This record gives sequence, C-alpha cells and structure tokens, in this order.
Amino acid sequence: MIKKLLDSSWFYYAAAALLVIGYAATQIKIELPARDHGELADIRKIAEIEDLNVVFILIDTLRADHLGSYGYERETSPIMDRLAETGIRFHNHVAQSTWTKTSMASLWTGTYPVTNEILRFGHVLPEEATLPAELFRKAGYRTAGLYRNGWVGHEFGFQQGFEQYVRPSTATSAAAVERAKNTPHQLLGSDWDLTTSAVEFVTRYREDKFFLYVHYMDIHQFAFEEDSAIFGSGYEDAYDNSIHWTDRNVGTLVAQLEKLELMDNTLLVIAADHGEAFMEHGNEGHAKDVHAENVETPAIFVLPWFLEEPRVIEELTENVDLWPTILDIVGIEPVDETDGRSLVPLILGEADPHPGPAYAHLDRNWANTRPDNPTIGVRTEDAKLVWWPQQPRHQSRYYYDINEDPGEQIDLHQDEPEATAALVELASEYLERGPASWGASPDSVEVDSMKLSILRALGYVIGGE
Ligand SMILES: [Zn+2]
Repeated sequence: MIKKLLDSSWFYYAAAALLVIGYAATQIKIELPARDHGELADIRKIAEIEDLNVVFILIDTLRADHLGSYGYERETSPIMDRLAETGIRFHNHVAQSTWTKTSMASLWTGTYPVTNEILRFGHVLPEEATLPAELFRKAGYRTAGLYRNGWVGHEFGFQQGFEQYVRPSTATSAAAVERAKNTPHQLLGSDWDLTTSAVEFVTRYREDKFFLYVHYMDIHQFAFEEDSAIFGSGYEDAYDNSIHWTDRNVGTLVAQLEKLELMDNTLLVIAADHGEAFMEHGNEGHAKDVHAENVETPAIFVLPWFLEEPRVIEELTENVDLWPTILDIVGIEPVDETDGRSLVPLILGEADPHPGPAYAHLDRNWANTRPDNPTIGVRTEDAKLVWWPQQPRHQSRYYYDINEDPGEQIDLHQDEPEATAALVELASEYLERGPASWGASPDSVEVDSMKLSILRALGYVIGGE
C-alpha cells in the first residue's frame, strides 16, 4: 500500500496544492454556472458519449431530511440542492444498513446484506465479488478512490478495481493541528484533503475517461471549518454545520469540473451510507437500529446537462439500485447477481422495475463476536416494520404508518396485527434467503489493535465477546 502511494504522483501534487487551493476556496463564494439544457430521454444516449466520466460522491452519515431539497428548513446544502434541482432526485430512498461497511458492501455490489453477508467488523468483501471499479477499469476508465473512513479500507476488500485507492495525507495547517489536539489515533485531516486530491485528479486526467469515487467523512465527525458554523453550537447544530461544510467541498469539486468543461461529459452521483439519530428512538448516532433517521438517505443524479424541470422520483428506491442504474446509464454490462435493479425505466416514467419493499439490515452484534442478532427494517410505500426477532414478542416488532407518521414515532403493531404479520413474514423470508455464490462464508480479517483503535476513534465500541 505504501508503495502504491509512492507511485501515485498526482497524490503529491495534491498535497502540495492543498494550502493554496484551501485558502482560495475559503475566500470565494461558490456559484455554479448555467449549463446547457437537455431532455430526460437523452439519458439513453449517455452511453454514447465517448469521453464519459463518472464521479461518485458518497457522503458518510448524511440523513436525507437534513438537506434543503428533501424539505429541511435550514439552508444546509445550497450546492447539492441546486444540483438536485437540475437533475434527478430520489425522494424516498433507503440505505441497506446503518454502519459504513455493511451499507457500502451492499451499495457497491447491489446486494442486500443477507446476500453478501458482510455483517461483522472483521468481514471482508471477497475477491470473487465484482465491484463497479473493476468493470470501469475493464472498460478502459482510469479509476481512483479517495476515502477517510477505515471501514472501506483495503483490508476489507473495497480497493478492488481502483488503480489508486488512497486516504490523502493531512494538511499541516494551523487548523489541522488544532483539530488533532493530543489524542492518539484520532481521525486526522479533513474532507478538504479529499477535495484537494479530487480537484488535482480531475485536472490532471481531464483528457482521460475516469471513474472517481470520493467518500466524504466530516459529517460523521461533526467536523467543519469555522465559516460553516452558521447554525449554532448545539449538538444537532454541529451536524448541520458539517453538512454545510461538506456541501462547500462538493461545490468546489463541481466548480473545478465546470472550469475544465468536464460537466458536459460527466455523470455525477451523490449518495450516503446511512443517517444519524438525535434521540428520535432513544439513541444518538448510528449503527444501533434501522429507523428512518438512520436509513433514509439522499440519492441525486446530475446528468451531463441540466434538466429544465427537476425529476423527483417519489417511488421507493434503495442503495442496491444505484449501481445497476449507473452501469445501465453508462452502458457497462452489470453483474447478474444483484438484488437491486436499474431504475432507468422508472426515471423515464415507463415502469417501476423494483417496486419494493426496501430492506435494511443491521446485526446488533456487528462489533463483537457474539452470535447473530439481526434487526430488519421492511419499508413499503405505506408502512414500515422494524423487526428484532431475538427480543421478547412485545418488543420484537414495531409497525408504523409512513404516510401519517414518517418519523416512525407511533407503533401500531397492536392495532394492525395483520398488516404487521404480513411484513414480519416478508422480513423472515428475507432472512432465509441464501447468499450470493461469492458471498458464502465471507472472509474475515484479524483487525489489529492499532486499526481497532483508529476505528474506535470514530466513536464505535468494537471487539470483545
Ligand atoms: Zn458511515
């Protein structure tokens, strides 16, 4: 891995350019210029663009309802809202788990956690799994992944197909030093390191076809630069400040793509791995249950042209659908064994190829070595079940009327026993599904003590019986 890093010359240019660009971007207001308009139906022609690029921005820990375009009252995300207004936005979108590794394994492979079996802290995506970056590389794209969250690191198999898969080095700015304090193994740096490296990458390789994955992480840490501290200093305010800061990072990358005139041949997708709870169901954070605040995430597609009217999809969609959809749009043959489906027919208003239900799956023992203890979320157009089969019966099922109660506050399982039983049936059928051919008995790695303490610095309690 170190060798790989040393081979990666653009990485050094990125580090060198960091302070200069960083200074400039904090001084300017990011505005996205107007672009050519196009038709939704032209989505079928994207595959014909010769020098097509794909940029996939994953924003860790971003719940949909804290974005303006999803109805939030605060202006946390002006850039992403503007992108959504001129592109495609999936309004009722569900992530497959509530911690990064399980959720990202599902997202990349288009399979549910029960299919890919990446459920525990030591599990590794096997070589046999085919990841989108491998398909891009075969199709002649330059591939690069930039991340800061250790759960998607090399040791867990997420590097497959990336020519460069790196965690950019941290800036030695006064702010970075201040933030680092005196804590060992703290997550160093900031998402600005990713933005700077991404800007350098697209600049350097603007003549090539590329697939770039940028996995932002500052929202997970509630981290932001001072001039994004515009919503106050409370706990939830800090979360919103970090969304605003991340939005500026996205804007900086998009502004550079604009400047290089790359947006006309780039498909840009923004998604998230899970949300964040603020005591809606007695918990803070994530990786503890599968309620709405943790599984309802944004999904935004920005086409190589602006749409006159935004396309807002109200139908239920899932993260497992994203890669089958993207590969369909760019004309790369997807893998067969997916639970998700291409949403292109839905985008075009022709048909809904994957009408639901949507599933979320968290093993409550993901961070230790005790036996399986699944919690399953089943979401339909009208209802949501949270099922925890190992609990005593009266605490094992929660049923919500999503239209009346989108925040899942009023449990109706006693008033709606039949509807509840029908969804419990779906949840138990889900749990009995067999794994994918490549998913059987996923490899595990011994997570060494240093790695564990870095992951613990993210706020998780990991390890133990
Ligand atoms: Zn995450």
